[in-house]
Amino acid sequence: MNRSNDDPRNDGEGVRVLFVGPCAEEADRVRELLEASRTMAFFVTHAEHLSEGLAREPESDVLMLRVEDADAPRLAALTQARLTAPLLPIVVFSDLDDETTALRSLQSGARGFVLASELTTRNLVTTLGAALESHRMILQLNSAREKARHLATHDQLTGLANRALFHDRLSQTLASATRSRQRLAVLFVDLDGFKTINDTLGHAVGDGLLRSISRRISACLRETDTAARLGGDEFGILLTDLTNELDAATVARKLLAELAEPIHFRSQFTAIRCSIGIATFPRDTQSADELLKKADTAMYHAKEGGGSRFEFYTEDMNAALQRRLALEERLRTALDDRDFVIHYQPQFDLTRGRIIGAEALLRWQHPELGLVSPAHFLPIAEESGLIVEIGDWILRTACEQNAAWNREGFRALRISVNVSSQQFLEPDFADIVRRALDQSGLPPVSLELEITESSLLRDVNVTVDTLRTLKDLGVRLAIDDFGTGYSALAYLKRLPIDVLKIDQSFVRTVTTDPADATIVESIVQLASGLNLTTIAEGVETLEQLLLLGSFGCKRMQGYLFGKPVPADVFRGWLDDPPFRWMPTQEEEEKPEDSELPPRA
Ligand code: C2E
Ligand code: MG
Ligand code: MG
Repeated sequence: MNRSNDDPRNDGEGVRVLFVGPCAEEADRVRELLEASRTMAFFVTHAEHLSEGLAREPESDVLMLRVEDADAPRLAALTQARLTAPLLPIVVFSDLDDETTALRSLQSGARGFVLASELTTRNLVTTLGAALESHRMILQLNSAREKARHLATHDQLTGLANRALFHDRLSQTLASATRSRQRLAVLFVDLDGFKTINDTLGHAVGDGLLRSISRRISACLRETDTAARLGGDEFGILLTDLTNELDAATVARKLLAELAEPIHFRSQFTAIRCSIGIATFPRDTQSADELLKKADTAMYHAKEGGGSRFEFYTEDMNAALQRRLALEERLRTALDDRDFVIHYQPQFDLTRGRIIGAEALLRWQHPELGLVSPAHFLPIAEESGLIVEIGDWILRTACEQNAAWNREGFRALRISVNVSSQQFLEPDFADIVRRALDQSGLPPVSLELEITESSLLRDVNVTVDTLRTLKDLGVRLAIDDFGTGYSALAYLKRLPIDVLKIDQSFVRTVTTDPADATIVESIVQLASGLNLTTIAEGVETLEQLLLLGSFGCKRMQGYLFGKPVPADVFRGWLDDPPFRWMPTQEEEEKPEDSELPPRA
């Protein structure tokens, strides 16, 4: 193999011919004729046996095999040679001048046939050349086929199996598992919040993360398991030969831990969480489609339960899924059917002793289902993307309603509208707000947007940009459910917001749990230090009012001041409030509201 540098065969132009046959003179004759060629350089090596020849000249390009007359009918030597050197094109050399032997040689895999009695340079060169050429084409074809097969069965981005291959493997494995009574599990893995990463950090980052994740998934599995990318941020895993269904739980736990390790990408760290659903064979089903579907259903439940967890499929899940699908179906037509209404809940100011605004809260009045709670249908609306259209409607309707109350003289009245995180991340969200204001004629200061702490935490840069644009419109910005997320103080300072809404979970226990009382008091102090207004949510009792008031929180919302009610009821409350409170005179005029005189 080790050729010296001055070996002429190094130039790569020559053809290395291995002549295998008992007679060295025949090889010499062939060499002599080939060396006379003016078109190509040939180097002929002779060996009595193929194995010896291959050992001596392992990089041969073509094999000339002497077929003896006695061997001709069975061509055993040819078959043997093909097995020994499957990648080498073979030209049969024989002195049997009959068509049958020549044809049979070609049918048995030889790429050429040379008759000893017709040895000429031209004959040898053309036969060997044709053999090499056809061999090269076949190799090319095979590699092209292999490439095409890989493309059709693998995911381009991650190199994992694709959905089609996964399904094939699953079906095959199920067939043999049924015979051998093996246990199998299918894991459906879906990344939590991946859409947000893609939307906010860009597709290049998203793609890089998907590749890292695929590598991590593969690293958690055994050789015999199959991992596939089923689409977007969904992965499928087939675990074979389980001794116990709980083995699948072990793998799922490992995956959760492995994926939760921060990924370093483009000089930032991102932690990925995922939800995993597990369906097993033979317990859950015998069919490949069903197994995948049930794993998907279980994944869905893991996600509903807060994500970053795994769940095994159970029959109850199916019923819950059916109910959910039916709800989503109805939600699609709810806007057109005018099933949505907005209820208004008063926001009260202790220093003025009156209602200063209202929070608009969506209600779904379904003809058969009755009143459906937003907690029930909002997550479905978010996931199906319907929330964007619905949110647009809420914004327009609430602005028009408040503009109407403004025209009646309640010019200081402010309307608070909840913004879902998906809506907030829409690139044209600010335009939608601007349009709602323009069309209704409502002054921007009379609109407050409530954005939850969790949606603000998704990506700081995008959040700050969007908030700035909204702020430039002149609307007020509030952080809803404050205290439930993990906003750092430094982070709050960067956001151009006006109001913190203290989450009701703290208010509910403020008079009974000293820890919550401390938290609320700190939030109020913090807000006042940052020049923000606080409003307490879910105030139900006079004790809560008094304690919160003593902390310096003067704005409140809750059943004590009035439940969310239809627009006409709320209008009545503006003249005749259900809750009365003596204003503290000295604090009556706050600069923040001076541009909005009360009722003329
Ligand atoms: P939220 O924005 O924090 O709204 C306050 C929720 O607390 C409302 O529930 C309200 O009815 C309830 N609430 C008010 N005062 C009290 C009280 O004193 N005690 C108790 N126990 N509850 C009180 P609701 O209307 O069921 O809304 C739940 C959540 O759904 C809202 O929480 C908000 O995040 C979301 N939501 C409601 N309407 C909309 C909407 O139009 N758009 C969006 N994106 N989300 C909405
Ligand atoms: Mg709210
Ligand atoms: Mg809230």
